Amino acid sequence: MNSFCPEIWPEEPTPKSQIDCQECGLYCQGSRMVWGEGNSNAPIMIVLDNPGAREGREGSPMVCGTRQTLQKAVYEAGLHQDQLYVTYILKRRPLRKYDKERTRTICMQHLEEQLIKQKPALILCLGNVAVQSFFGNPEVEVKGLRGTWHEVRGYQTAVAYHPLAVRRRPNLYPLLAEDVALVANKLHEIQ
Ligand code: SF4
Repeated sequence: MNSFCPEIWPEEPTPKSQIDCQECGLYCQGSRMVWGEGNSNAPIMIVLDNPGAREGREGSPMVCGTRQTLQKAVYEAGLHQDQLYVTYILKRRPLRKYDKERTRTICMQHLEEQLIKQKPALILCLGNVAVQSFFGNPEVEVKGLRGTWHEVRGYQTAVAYHPLAVRRRPNLYPLLAEDVALVANKLHEIQ
């Protein structure tokens, strides 16, 4: 029997037109840009707040804790890497204090373009920041929305706890697993 083993999902290169993006100012105080990971033609798009590190301190490739926990839930739900694409509200990880509201609003336009181009069948938003930005409502939270489907921006959308929150509070893992399974089941229904 195969067992779970975290792996480095392929990174989607940043489009040439966006490589020099400086629109929100994070280019001078954020990590390098990561556009997305996994299969850009996948039926499921997972939306996180911002990219975690894909390289360790010495620059060698690594699978960060967020990705490890997400991949475990994905594996247990019977989903394959090819069925998934991961992207972010912000394409850079902020390294210092920044204007959150303004930066998220500006960078969301890139996600909107990705949606138009990729047209995923299902969306899974992870964590309150991704949920609030994607739903366009600062009042909503994972707690009140998880476990069911929502029509957002014209897409069937589910929400779940951020894998990092799950690592900090392992009692949340069964809820993350449940929500990823919800998405896997829906995909089986519609395919
Ligand atoms: S975070 Fe988004 S808007 Fe800001 S510089 Fe990067 S790609 Fe551009």
